[in-house]
Amino acid sequence: MVTTLDLEPLLRGAALRVTRPRVAVLSAVYAHPHSDTDSIIGVVRQDLGEVSTQAVYDVLRTLTVAGLVRRIEPAGSVARYESRVGDNHHHVVCRSCGAIEDVDCAVGYTPCLTADDDHGYVIDEAEVTYWGWCPACSPSVGIRPAPN
Ligand SMILES: [Zn+2]
Ligand SMILES: [Zn+2]
Repeated sequence: MVTTLDLEPLLRGAALRVTRPRVAVLSAVYAHPHSDTDSIIGVVRQDLGEVSTQAVYDVLRTLTVAGLVRRIEPAGSVARYESRVGDNHHHVVCRSCGAIEDVDCAVGYTPCLTADDDHGYVIDEAEVTYWGWCPACSPSVGIRPAPN
């Protein structure tokens, strides 16, 4: 469990001034990975009381640029934020309810960064999204795999 005290050095380490909205937003992202902005606003308001939507958007942008949170945006989904940064993890997304889980890189290192043709680009990230049905949704669509 990450406490507010743990988050302040993170902000300072990223050369960001420690403010209550920044700490509140960061702790909301830590506590609720893959939350969308509306959910984060809800959590922050429970913590701080009234805080403007724009303020939360601004803080999320600042934290993302500083590399303290990662912004993901699966196709058809709103932007979501998570505190697990700096690794090459991927996501599995439920087509039905939109649930998102972390998936480690398929083979544990990063051959998936090796594009067949890099077109001369220096590539440092590959974003992979696995799509499917979460356990709660798969029975209702009748594609639950047969047990072995
Ligand atoms: Zn689902
Ligand atoms: Zn993730």
